[in-house]
Amino acid sequence: MTSLGDWHSPDKKAQLTSIARTAPIHNRSVPLGTRYGTIYAEFPMPLTQSREILAASRLENVKYAIRDLACVAQEVAAKGHKILPLNIGDPINFDFETPAHLIEAVHQAMREGKNGYAPSSGVTPALNAIRAEAARKGITNIQDVFVTSGVSESVDICLTALLNPGEDVLTPSPDYPLYSAVLSKLDIGLNTYYLNEEDGWQPDLDDIKRKITPRTRGIVLINPNNPTGSVCTRRMLQDIAELARRHNLVIFADEIYDKLILDNDEHISLAAVAPDVPVVTFGGLSKNYLAPGWRIGWGVISGDAAVVKPYVEGVNKLLRSRLCANHPEQYAIPAALEGPQEHLIEVRKKLRSRRDLTVQWCNSTAHVSCVSPRGAFYAFPKLDIAEGDDVFVKELLVQKHVLVVHGSGFGQKPGTRHFRIVFLPDEKTLTAAYAKMADLIQERYGK
Ligand code: PLP
Repeated sequence: MTSLGDWHSPDKKAQLTSIARTAPIHNRSVPLGTRYGTIYAEFPMPLTQSREILAASRLENVKYAIRDLACVAQEVAAKGHKILPLNIGDPINFDFETPAHLIEAVHQAMREGKNGYAPSSGVTPALNAIRAEAARKGITNIQDVFVTSGVSESVDICLTALLNPGEDVLTPSPDYPLYSAVLSKLDIGLNTYYLNEEDGWQPDLDDIKRKITPRTRGIVLINPNNPTGSVCTRRMLQDIAELARRHNLVIFADEIYDKLILDNDEHISLAAVAPDVPVVTFGGLSKNYLAPGWRIGWGVISGDAAVVKPYVEGVNKLLRSRLCANHPEQYAIPAALEGPQEHLIEVRKKLRSRRDLTVQWCNSTAHVSCVSPRGAFYAFPKLDIAEGDDVFVKELLVQKHVLVVHGSGFGQKPGTRHFRIVFLPDEKTLTAAYAKMADLIQERYGK
């Protein structure tokens, strides 16, 4: 190691200049202290980084098919084609609007100076409103409530707070890809259970039983489901809760679509049927309240107080370390959960009509069939074709300029093929998109 000694002496400056000329910045044999940095500032040298900066290898498994397809779509759009986007679940891209009273609540919070950092768990009026809503849904034994930057951040924090290297959490297949992306980021191997298409995409309970190992710490349940639109039966929730009870698991109940039920089903919160089981229930403003850009979500931890205490402390450590969720937007939470709900009537009416159109098209088109979605705004039709669904989706985009997401991007049983449709667009747009899809299917796979 070269000692820098008294760096003010003329001899030392000359020596350092010579080191700087010959040493690339990444050459660790040269001491890189504060003093050395100062010398660089005094004697600027034309240096370039010569080696690539590699991303962490654990990111190789981070995939998000919904947005990854955007690159191909950009190329198609650059050629002047208008793309019919049936790929991203953002209602604001279509004929849905954030309710005015939510916007007013945020505006008022901003005017009242709620523009600094918020408490890490969230502001009191928002937390009270979330607790009251959870109670209305029958959730008791609530041990903690917190607001995050969308459900996305809740999921990230809650999985990070639970898992040690070598452990796992059961995630559904098909899955909303956020879960596998976060698990990959944590270097946690995937352990997936199937949703059963023959049973209206209900979780395959036997598969869950088979997949639980001594290293399994939790189960993710998305209800209503993205990407299939299924809604869990009470019996299913009770059976999953019983497995969690028996194997000491945490259930992550993602209920972000709980007010978008399209038929006569009642949405039942998993935590409501199992007050003793550790459950984190996720909800937010992105879907039910049509404000995905505000990035407001939340988590409600319920279960036996003594059992969940260390986990709640872990979650709160992470909540503190990232400061807080968006501050003024949190004031829309009481407005949403306790204010007028009229927009939901209109939203469900539109979604019902668009769901019916979608299912009718699927089930009257050769090579396509679909379990009718009962909630949310996604359909996950099955394709009876001899090539991969990724090829179908790419050809559909390149040739017909319709953008959907391939089933393999969500996970599916080997040998099966699907694609996900977001049926948020109006009937005219959907009809045009389905006509183009039918053309491609006929041209490529025959009648
Ligand atoms: N969970 C599910 C099942 C979703 O479908 C989505 C978004 O599509 C999210 C979570 C992310 O929600 P947020 O916008 O609150 O981060």
